[in-house]
Amino acid sequence: MSELNSVDTEHAAAIEADDAAIAAALQEAHIPSLVLALVHMTGDMSLVRGDIKPMVEFLNPDDGLTEAQRDSVRQRALQVIAQHRDAPAEFYVPKDAELREMMDFITGQSLAEEYVEFLSAELSMHGEDAYEQPEVYKVPEHTRADFKVLVIGAGMSGLLSAIRLQQAGIDFMVVEKNHDVGGTWLENTYPGCRVDSANHVYSYSFRPQDWPQHFSPQPVLHDYFSTTADEYGLRDHIRFDTEVERANFDEASGMWHVQVNGPNGADTLVVNAVISAVGQLNRPKMPDIEGLGSFKGPAWHSAEWQHDVDLTGKRVGVIGTGGSAFQFVPIVADQAESVTVFQRTAPWIVPNETYFQDVPEGKHWLLKHVPFYAKWFRFNMFWSAAEGLLQAVTGEEGWERPEESVSELNQQFRDTLIANLEETLAGRPDLIEKCTPDYPPGAKRALIDDGKYLRTLLRDNVSLLDDGIAAITEKGLRDANGVEHEFDVLVYGTGFKASSFLHPMKIYGLEGKELHEVWADEPRAFKGISMPGFPNLFCCYGPNTNIVVNGSIIFFSECEVRYIMGCLAMLMQGNGKALDVKQDVHQRYNEWIDKGNAGMAWGQSGVNTWYKNASGHITQNWPFTLLEFWQQTRAPAAEDYHLI
Ligand code: NAP
Repeated sequence: MSELNSVDTEHAAAIEADDAAIAAALQEAHIPSLVLALVHMTGDMSLVRGDIKPMVEFLNPDDGLTEAQRDSVRQRALQVIAQHRDAPAEFYVPKDAELREMMDFITGQSLAEEYVEFLSAELSMHGEDAYEQPEVYKVPEHTRADFKVLVIGAGMSGLLSAIRLQQAGIDFMVVEKNHDVGGTWLENTYPGCRVDSANHVYSYSFRPQDWPQHFSPQPVLHDYFSTTADEYGLRDHIRFDTEVERANFDEASGMWHVQVNGPNGADTLVVNAVISAVGQLNRPKMPDIEGLGSFKGPAWHSAEWQHDVDLTGKRVGVIGTGGSAFQFVPIVADQAESVTVFQRTAPWIVPNETYFQDVPEGKHWLLKHVPFYAKWFRFNMFWSAAEGLLQAVTGEEGWERPEESVSELNQQFRDTLIANLEETLAGRPDLIEKCTPDYPPGAKRALIDDGKYLRTLLRDNVSLLDDGIAAITEKGLRDANGVEHEFDVLVYGTGFKASSFLHPMKIYGLEGKELHEVWADEPRAFKGISMPGFPNLFCCYGPNTNIVVNGSIIFFSECEVRYIMGCLAMLMQGNGKALDVKQDVHQRYNEWIDKGNAGMAWGQSGVNTWYKNASGHITQNWPFTLLEFWQQTRAPAAEDYHLI
């Protein structure tokens, strides 16, 4: 049974709480969201036209209101909510201009017109489905039903693709290499695994939840995707334990012939289009270290955790200090006799005090019961994520401290993060030195924490070594100083083959060319979705669609799938068999992306990161705002594609 409850962002649950309980819940309110909920409940626009004006500032989580102002909002809210409880009335529907005022209020600024359209869609005040593709419904129903699509992967993007195809009445099937849905949230079960994007935006736009924590743990995330599959009846469309081995585009018929291997042996599926939803981070990468494999004790990669090995009293060696190790090291340190962490590059740590916190009861109550509160609460989180810290990781022309930072704002960001580090590790200059990154913030994926990881490093049974590893040995490993370290267990938190998009499938497009050979280790795609020479093959979370400091990857998938559905609509409406993106369009697009990335911290710094391929080209990241991606992917332009 799922532990999660859905949140109806428009029609809140009936209120039974007494005044005291309502008042207690209001203590947890996000005041700007509450003010806007009150506008819907009262029709009183003066609420956003008075002295109460939230402020949104760089690196400042505060709303800028005084305690007296917050109290006055809570008092009014108590009155209005109690009245609504006793005699529910119609809600006020703001006019467009008023909605605009409300958005300005909560964002603390006068929004640029282009943002209004984007944010209005996300807000979906009238219940509209923000990421649905209207074009697909213009295609005659029988044409849609005759069209076959194969989705590869039943993780977050694959399920989303399946939902959209199902809604559009398009015939589809999903193949999934695992035994269940959930992708990364199924595979990564290491202790401490949790989401590092705020959960209230790390969820499908059409399926908001009453999340138990601000950043929920892996079982909750898996449950979310699993219940999504159940609710939408997707499991009957999924072939589990089935891998795609190769796919060939047949030019004569315009169909993809996809060879799959599953429980019933090999099979060839013939479909009009293929959507790859295989993710970027699911093929474990073992380090290229001499002696790899020679360790005689239990050893595993973080994504293949061996839960049957009890770590109690064991000496555990950990290689890596990325997002995964960062989460499991504190848990392992609670059980093991000792933990020795081998760090190659110090990660930046962004403090967030809510990282491990439950959503307080009062907040749950507000989200469930106060009409329109959940809608504006999500809107507020979406807005803060839309730009996020993008400005703070954008390079400034002529900036003279490239080793440390890329701009004035980036330097401020750096100073804030270092101050946090120094405060948590006070009294341990050795650790402060080891944990201080020697590259600008944003150049590499930063880690979110409330201080737990750094406090773990202070424990007597934990050591952080950064001298480099010379070799893995039978008993443990030898560091670069020649010192032997003996362990009972070795854990590789060494990440994934991120740049090997669509690996290990073999994909043959026009003229029999294989995708990876065409890419030659430089994966690129138009909008991260289409590759020239590979008609009717579409990617979710393809090259250059990864975000660094703004947004949620679910937003990207929702945009990508809307665009893909637009491509399918265009194809079904046209007189052709397949769509192939034009080479020059693809080329220009990628020049623009490269230029964008070159201006960002991750493009300017030489630090080693999974954002880059072996030759240093940024293969993963999207360098612009969410607005830009939303605009780019609203619908395909016919002139960008050949209809063949
Ligand atoms: P990762 O960030 O790529 O980290 C791999 C770690 O292993 C790095 O510290 C790396 O050092 C080290 N390493 C790799 N090869 C090495 C070698 N030969 N010698 C020494 N050290 C070596 O991988 P990850 O931690 O699995 O995380 C991958 C991504 O998944 C994250 O960035 C994040 O986007 C995502 N993730 C998200 C969550 C979440 O949402 N909560 C949790 C976990 C992961 P260098 O830094 O020097 O390369």
